[in-house]
Amino acid sequence: MAERIATPGRTRQIIEANGFSFKKNFGQNFLIDSNILERIAQCAGITKEDCVLEIGPGIGSLTQVLAETAKQVVAVEIDATLIPILSQTLGEYENVEILNQDILKTDIDTIIQEKNGGKPIKVVANLPYYITTPILMDLLEKERHVESITVMVQKEVAERMQAGPGEKEYGALSVAVQYYCDAHLDMIVQPSCFMPRPKVASAVITLKVLPERKVKTADEALFFHIVKCAFGQRRKTLLNSLFNQGNMELSKAELAKILQGLGWDERIRGEALGLAEFAALTDRIAALRTT
Ligand code: SAM
Repeated sequence: MAERIATPGRTRQIIEANGFSFKKNFGQNFLIDSNILERIAQCAGITKEDCVLEIGPGIGSLTQVLAETAKQVVAVEIDATLIPILSQTLGEYENVEILNQDILKTDIDTIIQEKNGGKPIKVVANLPYYITTPILMDLLEKERHVESITVMVQKEVAERMQAGPGEKEYGALSVAVQYYCDAHLDMIVQPSCFMPRPKVASAVITLKVLPERKVKTADEALFFHIVKCAFGQRRKTLLNSLFNQGNMELSKAELAKILQGLGWDERIRGEALGLAEFAALTDRIAALRTT
């Protein structure tokens, strides 16, 4: 087996030899614990059949493990100064392709089409924490051909993804993740496993994208619009949030009537609603707007 990139000594050596300096604004905290990397690949269930999209390969620590377990790896890295380093560290792996791009501007559908013949890929990443939510929302809401997403995120964000109605962490991300996926918390990872150490604990979470949505709704775009309104002003009642922010073309009295029709108190807050309730509300509003 090739020498591991993810050890403190080897990582320091690569960084110093290339005069690389960490960029905080790119969320650069590299993993330096090979055991964690092996476990991430296991939790993602990577086999030689899989095409993997990695977001932010850094100096290639996770990419190396993925290259050894998957059929093909496409890794998207925004930092141009890491590209020559990756050519060195991953030079021996013929099944790795590095793209120097911003993942939020990357045409993921074309990658899936060209690299995996349109068949669903797996996403695996130690994510740059400053854009965790936009990355996940893009993968989920745009319904990319993705089978599963195994990612390192802040522990608190992993908790948010799994939270339910009434819990402090429950929010729009919880609803989106639970609408599209089954989520499984794989492990908690301490700051000492990274260089430099992040200030917060991290967690690896696997999201298995479901073939069908957990609830049915008449209008998916309206469903997510309502969810965002409901959590946009957490301290306001659902009625006020929908009326003030919703642009629903409905009067407050009409909205209040919908809530009453669903058997809910007018003072209910959005954070009390689960997936099924958001779907029921969406369908009532959709029906009234089309009449
Ligand atoms: N995978 C490496 C590891 O585990 O050691 C590095 C992970 S580090 C937390 C996040 C990586 O994402 C960095 O290499 C950073 O430069 C890259 N990155 C940050 N923003 C990005 C973006 N918008 N698109 C692609 N890569 C990005």
